Amino acid sequence: MRPWSYYTPILTYHRVGTFQYDHVPTVSGRVFERQLTLLTRWRYRVLSLTELVERLEQGQMPRRSAVITFDDGYAETYDVAWPLLKRAGFPSTVFVAPGEVGRPGFVSWDQLTEMAHDGTVIGSHTMHHSYLPHVKDDRLNEELIASKQVIESRIGRAINFISYPIGGFTAQAQEVVKRAGYRAACTTNRRAFETGIDRFALRRIKMTERDGAALLFYAKLSGYYNMFRRLKSPG
Ligand SMILES: [Zn+2]
Repeated sequence: MRPWSYYTPILTYHRVGTFQYDHVPTVSGRVFERQLTLLTRWRYRVLSLTELVERLEQGQMPRRSAVITFDDGYAETYDVAWPLLKRAGFPSTVFVAPGEVGRPGFVSWDQLTEMAHDGTVIGSHTMHHSYLPHVKDDRLNEELIASKQVIESRIGRAINFISYPIGGFTAQAQEVVKRAGYRAACTTNRRAFETGIDRFALRRIKMTERDGAALLFYAKLSGYYNMFRRLKSPG
């Protein structure tokens, strides 16, 4: 795929809510709500990750569509983002690491189960939020396969997707992900200029508070965001 080719935008949020002056990328509830309003106003079709992957499997890259994902499963995903999404009528996907669920500041298993049964797609974010390039081969099964099984048994839903923490993965990790039965995997926007669409390394666009500016949000939603990035920093 050429850098100027269309790519359905998959938006990545981390915390939506109050800034806590930590390393977590945070979008305020006010800006998040505004973005949902703009998606509606601009007549975007917000697809679930399941719908997008079905289209990709058919060789399509749906236009004027976007996918909303959350990494890490912060408590605010349930408290702040989910009610706003429900009001807008938009589906979303939440990636969690079982080792973090239920800890202070994170969603609980009960909350995740409630969201899953209401149609939110839940995915794995490895067992311990591990940066996979640093994980030894004999630990990959736990991070990638056991994490899937634990979430499935906790929420009573099949887990079909995974997002690589910090976007990091290896060919070996991808092999385990495929063997585990995942249908697709998400990364960050790294390797954005490579050709082709790898269903086991779907690129996503990181959302920040700056995207409260409609023009930047529009660029990120355009499906040509990599072209904008390339113009900004050629090479
Ligand atoms: Zn993460």
